[in-house]
Amino acid sequence: MGKVVVIGSSNTDMVVTTATMPKPGETVFGTVFNVHQGGKGANQAVAAARAGAQVTFIAKVGNDEFGQNAISAYQQDGIDTSHVLVDDQLSTGVAMITVDQTTGENSIIVVSGANAALLPDEVKGLEDVIRSADVLLVQLEIQLETVKTALALAKKYGVKTILNPAPAGILSHDLLKLVDILIPNETEAEQLSGRQLLDMESKKRVVSELLVHVDEAVILTMGAQGVLLKMKNENEQIITAQKVKAIDTTAAGDVFCGYLASCLSDNVAITEAIEVAKNAAAIAVTRRGAQPSIPFINELSKSK
Ligand code: ADP
Repeated sequence: MGKVVVIGSSNTDMVVTTATMPKPGETVFGTVFNVHQGGKGANQAVAAARAGAQVTFIAKVGNDEFGQNAISAYQQDGIDTSHVLVDDQLSTGVAMITVDQTTGENSIIVVSGANAALLPDEVKGLEDVIRSADVLLVQLEIQLETVKTALALAKKYGVKTILNPAPAGILSHDLLKLVDILIPNETEAEQLSGRQLLDMESKKRVVSELLVHVDEAVILTMGAQGVLLKMKNENEQIITAQKVKAIDTTAAGDVFCGYLASCLSDNVAITEAIEVAKNAAAIAVTRRGAQPSIPFINELSKSK
């Protein structure tokens, strides 16, 4: 069992399902309301734990009920939460998620709260925790400087680094050079490269361009189309997704990243790790919610 350290956001997701997505200024009736643990960091930590890795989650929540509930939930998944910090001033992060019940597509507003107060110095203080990992997995829902500090520490100790550059933004080459494996979705790849992904040829071009800046591989996730993998000095590979009826794609990328990190921490080859990760993500999109939808590794073998 490998060790994965995830540094990132912990949010409480308020999820509304609706038949009609509201336009600006419009009020519509939703059908279902649920509250779940979420946040890209937390979702990926839970996915890595359910995939079988030994997971330490470094995050910051508010001194409120949402934060306490989150910590208990992560512990139930066997995650080491001794480095989930509590901020006395700011609330736990919140995400308001609207899911289209026909297509499974979602739109999300995130209020960062305590997530934004996880500081580079606090991560520096956890150097030994990062050093002990096989894989460090980070996203962009916390301060960029905190992400960079974590990546730099991991690199210093030869810990494999995975960046899921979500939500989409523009990143410096300085940051990207600390990354071994970059896992953007199509929106994120467009933002990072400043180019539109119109067809498979343009996707291949963008993936090759991004690969110049990272150490090992770029894995472009393409929703129901699957994954485009490019490793240094190798040709691209398209790995198709399983055909499933998606009802809620909220955490697909998170499940993919967490499972991939878990497999890689166990020294599984990258192409095999992608197979496992995409199967886990395909199960997740057939279920509602973020963390409740994340499958356990034993459900995967049953579904094959
Ligand atoms: P994100 O959730 O970050 O936007 P994607 O939508 O690209 O990321 O999904 C991540 C991965 O989850 C995909 O590469 C694919 O393997 C799987 N996935 C997503 N949507 C579907 C779907 N409708 N059917 C099957 N697999 C899916």
